[in-house]
Amino acid sequence: MKVLSVNAGSSSLKFQMYEMPQEEVLISGVFERIGIDGSFYSLKINGKKIKKEKVLKDHDMAVSVLIDELLANNVVESLEDIKAVGHRVVHGGDKYSDSVVIDDDVLNTIVGLSDLAPLHNPANVIGIKAFFNKIPNAIAVAVFDTAFHQTIEKEEFLSSGPIEWYENHKVRKYSFHGTSHKYITERMKSILNKKEVNLITCHLGNGASISAIKGGQSKDSTMGFTPNAGLIMGTRSGDFDFTIIPYIMEVENKTLEEVLNDLNKKSGLLGISGISSDSRDIEEEFLNNEKNAVLAQNMYVKRIVAYIAKYFVFLKEVDAITFSGGIGENSSITRKMILDELEALNIKVDKVSNEKREDEFLISSKESKVDCYVIKTDEEVMIAKETYDLTK
Ligand code: AMP
Repeated sequence: MKVLSVNAGSSSLKFQMYEMPQEEVLISGVFERIGIDGSFYSLKINGKKIKKEKVLKDHDMAVSVLIDELLANNVVESLEDIKAVGHRVVHGGDKYSDSVVIDDDVLNTIVGLSDLAPLHNPANVIGIKAFFNKIPNAIAVAVFDTAFHQTIEKEEFLSSGPIEWYENHKVRKYSFHGTSHKYITERMKSILNKKEVNLITCHLGNGASISAIKGGQSKDSTMGFTPNAGLIMGTRSGDFDFTIIPYIMEVENKTLEEVLNDLNKKSGLLGISGISSDSRDIEEEFLNNEKNAVLAQNMYVKRIVAYIAKYFVFLKEVDAITFSGGIGENSSITRKMILDELEALNIKVDKVSNEKREDEFLISSKESKVDCYVIKTDEEVMIAKETYDLTK
């Protein structure tokens, strides 16, 4: 059965088509700069990469081009072959603890949750509608970034502001990257051959979060009401004393919007280092002993270590610590720095294994109290699986 896995942004649309349940990728690609000058798309099929420039007025047009390419490349014989489309949806609020088939009610709920994710849910809705318009017979499924974290309990998810903010306005921790944390949890169940795993899953990408997984369920995670809480990220501050905001508005004569933009787009690795939001650039300068790169890298690592230590105490028993996301999967330097800082927990890195480049491998030494792994995440296949499970 052919299933499309889709991630729609405000000006982009990423997709993979799978043959399920084999999880074979038939074609993948991305449409970029939709609705903006210079739009183009790239496809990957049979190991071959193709890039084409094309005016893409809107997402409907991108979906039309996508369908034409599926037919032209003989990935499908007719539109009827596309049985289901799984859509990544960032915010499911506290309503969805699982993926769900999209009907009018679900779509309205996703639209209604746009207040909580103004940058993401409206774009996800545009993607859902574009596929509805072009292939109305395909079953559409929403796979929420927040769903896996709905098992977090109240003592962890409540903010420490007035309880009325939660009761009247649903102010609470939702947390994100759930599809990735869930995928890693499923992989670790299989690797450890255990149903009830306790894990600390570190998703370290441009956006970053760590989850505490107890008995295979998310019981805490570092992102909060929005994806700005928790770890230091590429351009986001992560945890931050909110009273700095009115102070900076005053002394720099900035609006609230400008300061929030600074915290979202000009903070984190970029803001501290003044060099780049890309951890490869920070690493390069860190190795050159560039003062601000050293500062940014050390602060980045320390924040991660603090959360791992917190979740270690919270979970009591930990089967494994995992690293995924662009930085977690690729940066042996960052991983080593983190594990070296966890010496007090008797965690020890194996320097040789840590340098491997594979999809899944152990990086801790035999003496380490907890096994540590690199696991390449795959949110797209998780979306396809959840979609297939609701469709078959
Ligand atoms: P993601 O958001 O998961 O795509 O991750 C993006 C982040 O991964 C960026 O900060 C990249 O610099 C980082 N990254 C990708 N490859 C490497 C690498 N080989 N070494 C260090 N960081 C990397």
